[in-house]
Amino acid sequence: MTRQPQLPGTEDALPSLRDEFAIPLHGGREVAYFCGNSLGLMPTATPAALDRVVAQWRTHAVEAHFTDADAWMPYHQLVRDGLARIAGAKPIEVVAMNTLTTNLHLMLVSFYRPTPQRRKILIEARAFPSDRHAVASQIIYHGGDPATDLIELAPEPGAHTIDVGQIEEVLAREGERIALILWPGVQYASGQRFDLAAIAKLGARYGCRTGFDLAHAIGNVPVDLHDSGADFAVWCSYKYLNSGPGAIAGCFVHERHARADLPRFAGWWGHEAATRFRMGPNFVPSPGADGWQLSNPSILALAPLRVSLDQFDRAGLAALRRRSIALTGWLANALEQDLSEHLEILTPADPAQRGCQLSLRVRAGRDAGRRAFEHLARDGIICDWREPDVIRASPAPLYNHLADCERLVEALRDHFRSGSSS
Ligand SMILES: *Cc1c(COP(=O)(O)O)cnc(C)c1O
Repeated sequence: MTRQPQLPGTEDALPSLRDEFAIPLHGGREVAYFCGNSLGLMPTATPAALDRVVAQWRTHAVEAHFTDADAWMPYHQLVRDGLARIAGAKPIEVVAMNTLTTNLHLMLVSFYRPTPQRRKILIEARAFPSDRHAVASQIIYHGGDPATDLIELAPEPGAHTIDVGQIEEVLAREGERIALILWPGVQYASGQRFDLAAIAKLGARYGCRTGFDLAHAIGNVPVDLHDSGADFAVWCSYKYLNSGPGAIAGCFVHERHARADLPRFAGWWGHEAATRFRMGPNFVPSPGADGWQLSNPSILALAPLRVSLDQFDRAGLAALRRRSIALTGWLANALEQDLSEHLEILTPADPAQRGCQLSLRVRAGRDAGRRAFEHLARDGIICDWREPDVIRASPAPLYNHLADCERLVEALRDHFRSGSSS
């Protein structure tokens, strides 16, 4: 079967920034990279941005905090507007700091305030382990017991996705005992995207706090954190935000909490900027998300984030989303048409309920799945494997092209046709 090597409609004309990324080679040929959901590719502008910080350090040392246009003292503010745009938030609601799990703990300290009557946390079953560890350890820290205080909502038997109606059922039953809902924007294993506003609204109706983990949503699907009404959100920046291994993470605190005197674990960088350097003993929080900062930020970590946010601004979130829907839609169709006897797509078919990721399960079982995954890797097609039996493939609209998706489908077709799956 021959296929048009073009995305339908005008989508191929939508900007891809592929030539602004370093694409690894495999046997002299560019890989087909589908792991932007794990570690995004390096923008080619990133090394120069890092060199610039190193040069400031070399040339100005401590004075680099104040001297030039990119002075380090207000440096974290350089990413604020870009972060706000990508998170659908107001500038006062976002900050770049720490790492995802650290930020999640800081948010739980402020927003998980169990009382004897209301002390449970609702998460999804099969949550990313770090998220589960964070909430379980917070429950224990407050003297509770995860066996009774942690509710883990699983898909219906035989299903791979969770309906918001199921969340509503749990809340109808347990809502008055639930202190906090922690939910993903996009579920890392299934690729299911959730309606943040619907979940936050349900939470508010039952008097629960609601926070989102956007690790797999930020830079992948549109998020409107402010309008969603969520209390908080956290995300990392090394996945779709392409800011490098261990990149500085993000945090959102809704504006309605910007001046509330919420309990928190405090540090000097969260103290209001105007009086921070008076070095007084009393903590006066900066308004907004800034007030949760602990330490002066790593400038070396912020520089790649700046590069990345600039790319998203230039590409335009709406155009990227259109491109993403076309790319992933093409891939899903091709897999369904040619390979459905071998592969099951666990991710919802409705584009509104997914981002770019497709989660694939090989019908012949886990070992056959591993073999298919390894076959792809030998061909320079980089997907990832998630236990127990899922191959994840994420065409990132910033740099993946239709040709990458074609390679993936061809390679899987060859693999299953050759019988090496049996
Ligand atoms: C990637 C990811 C993490 C990783 O946490 P770090 O603190 O950045 O190591 C946590 N939770 C989810 C849902 C993730 O997808």
